[in-house]
Amino acid sequence: MHLCDVLARDPFTASFEFFPPKTDDGWGALFAAIADFGVLRPTFVSVTYGAGGSTQQFTHDLVLRIRRETGLETMPHLTCARHSAEEIDAILRSYASAGVSNILALRGDSPSQTGSVSTGPFRHAIDLVRSIREARSRGVVTEDARGFGIAVAGYPEGHPETPNTLIEMDHLKAKCEAGADLVISQLFFDNHAFDDWRQRCELAGIRTPILAGIMPITSLAGLKRMAELAGGTTFPAPLLRAIRRAGDDPDAVARVGIHWATEQCRALIDGGVRGIHFYTLNKSVATKKIYENLGIASTDALRVRGAEGY
Ligand code: FAD
Repeated sequence: MHLCDVLARDPFTASFEFFPPKTDDGWGALFAAIADFGVLRPTFVSVTYGAGGSTQQFTHDLVLRIRRETGLETMPHLTCARHSAEEIDAILRSYASAGVSNILALRGDSPSQTGSVSTGPFRHAIDLVRSIREARSRGVVTEDARGFGIAVAGYPEGHPETPNTLIEMDHLKAKCEAGADLVISQLFFDNHAFDDWRQRCELAGIRTPILAGIMPITSLAGLKRMAELAGGTTFPAPLLRAIRRAGDDPDAVARVGIHWATEQCRALIDGGVRGIHFYTLNKSVATKKIYENLGIASTDALRVRGAEGY
């Protein structure tokens, strides 16, 4: 279903992000987790794309397999850095012929962190957004006459390459005006940062719906990886203090992380957020626990929000 129809149907959306596993065991474990996730009735799930190249075919395979085996609405991520226009068209064609309706359009990062991110025709995500919008005129035909629904990334605490947050906002606005139907935020732990950014988006005239990106901390190693992946993200002192109190007990660290994420979700939902995108790391335990802590059996309980007025 095209993102515009999904958003028109659901006053609140919940999406779960997966990555393609590298081993057969990983695929087995992921599909067991996806069966668990299905009970939570996500609006859609998304599958990451390795800008480095190694797992790109796996993204395609995983997207098609999730659709085939679970019927869940599935959105592939696609990064454009280092792809030629012909390669992007081949990928779009194969998704279109498989009935995929939506794509998360990204630039991607340099795997080495040293080389130039993009030397090809796609220097920024906006170039990919434009290319996807114009795909029909190049003979890439989707089931929906509107073409693919398009999501893009947004950064509540800024993107490391653009320290000027006003210019960063201009770039986000340009992606939306180029045809994005949805913005999915980078993960954050400080709701004030997200709320303030949401207001700044509104002031900038961005009317595109925004989903809040939530990743529960489940281990100390995971915390360090997150700091690496999401540069610039604030780790609030009360969160770090609680983690320090948990000491060397991995279960206690996970409980603290899940509790923090639950409180983030509760406040976001109460504040009328359009939806939450869960960075799941392919594991269902933390997300299921958050739903349980919120006192809801599935996303359906939040979909009625508009009608019930809470
Ligand atoms: P862009 O929108 O191109 O922005 C990148 C930088 O360039 C920003 O600093 C921006 O301000 C600047 N910029 C934008 N337009 C211009 C312009 N016209 N002129 C000058 N500067 C400009 N990475 C992966 O490899 N695979 C994934 O599956 C993946 N999934 C993600 C999902 C989400 C929800 C998010 C938030 C990120 C994801 N990423 C993924 C990471 C993402 O690829 C990186 O954060 C990357 O550095 C930026 O991607 P972007 O699409 O935001 O790029």
